[in-house]
Amino acid sequence: MRRTLALCLLSAASLVPLLSIASSPADKADAAAAMPPPPAWLSELDALYDARIRVAGLEDRAFSPEHWWDVAGPLATEARGFDTEQVGRSVEGRPLRHISWGQGGKRVLLWSQMHGDESTASMALADLFRFLGEHPDHPIVQRLRQGTTLDFLPVMNPDGAARFQRRNAQGIDINRDARALVTPEARALHGLRERLKPAFGFNLHDQNVGTRAGDSDRGTAIALLAPAYNEAREVNASRARAIEVAVAIRAVLEPYIAGYIAKWDDTFNPRAFGDLTAKAGVSTILIESGGIEGDPQKQRLRKLNFLALVGALDAIATGSHAGLPRALYEGLPENGKVWPDLLIRGGTLALPGQPQAKVDVLVDFERPLLERGGTIADIGDLGDRRARRTIDASGLYIVPFDPPGTPADRKRKTFAPDRPAYFRLSRDPQGRDVVWTLAGDVDPVKPNPVKGR
Ligand SMILES: [Zn+2]
Repeated sequence: MRRTLALCLLSAASLVPLLSIASSPADKADAAAAMPPPPAWLSELDALYDARIRVAGLEDRAFSPEHWWDVAGPLATEARGFDTEQVGRSVEGRPLRHISWGQGGKRVLLWSQMHGDESTASMALADLFRFLGEHPDHPIVQRLRQGTTLDFLPVMNPDGAARFQRRNAQGIDINRDARALVTPEARALHGLRERLKPAFGFNLHDQNVGTRAGDSDRGTAIALLAPAYNEAREVNASRARAIEVAVAIRAVLEPYIAGYIAKWDDTFNPRAFGDLTAKAGVSTILIESGGIEGDPQKQRLRKLNFLALVGALDAIATGSHAGLPRALYEGLPENGKVWPDLLIRGGTLALPGQPQAKVDVLVDFERPLLERGGTIADIGDLGDRRARRTIDASGLYIVPFDPPGTPADRKRKTFAPDRPAYFRLSRDPQGRDVVWTLAGDVDPVKPNPVKGR
């Protein structure tokens, strides 16, 4: 039901902001530099996206790599102007494919889903393939064809994607393998970069949905970074171009998510791909998709990724990024605190044979946007904590129960930090008059307690 609602909202959106914002924060640096207006094409492309660009079949963000290729492969055929070559195999033998499009002189390398559970940009790349292939006469597509050659390494950690996990099948974080290159996935990306020598690189990820934008209460929807190429974090001509492109992206996103855009920490990491790609002289842009509340499958973020990428690529094709004020990148708030997922506030803990106690309970989810796979993070007086969602449990009892399959000697001992979150909110301490249940997962049919009778 929530998904239907989200999709309806999306299809109705033109330039209506995707989030309602009480007040747009004015950053210090922003005061010194005027935000460029959104691109003239934004409104038209937004509507076209909803009608004829969004690719069907990617509504669940935990797709398999084989499914992604079934959906996206037919959109990137030779007849539509794409070339495909295999550039390696994953640890488990899944093909790693390089897709190329365009005839222009500015070479751009884009890679997605290096972390297998970070799929937002992969969905947007399928949409981009459709846009490029099915709308060849669109003015933006013509500009991109003439100005750029786009090289893609999509879903580059397919074994991780198959499990919807961060690391590859060997348990290695590919984004800490850019120097050692022990994984075939890292070698494929590295080899492609060495061979193509792109001018620009796009490192496409998802970040923790609990991350706040700066010290605000707002969750970061998208974080940007022009990675440093050295420990001193200097800005040379190549990094300056990446910063300008990040500002072009911000100009596209600002009408939708002003105040929800942040900047990733630019500490140089000598094992990470973004940093080493920047060090190789490629103007590199990291796009991290975070979360938007009410967008459990990241479909709004997928659209924003598509629009952001088109904005960035068009700026590269035309050179329109030149001279965009760096202050609009530097003035972005940094990624701030990470809020846990769920805070149950002010309930009365009722464990058989123990004294009752007024407590707060903090829960983190394995799948935060879907509220699935809950684990107890803390129990007690958590009055100073904030969470992405808070449930007022005053007047209710917190009644733990045992997860299915709990061995006899562990029964009722499972309500503790780092244990699976299984409890009911009930009007009585025995847990008979239940208003809400957390059985690892929140029941999507009854996400909120109904306290009134
Ligand atoms: Zn990542």
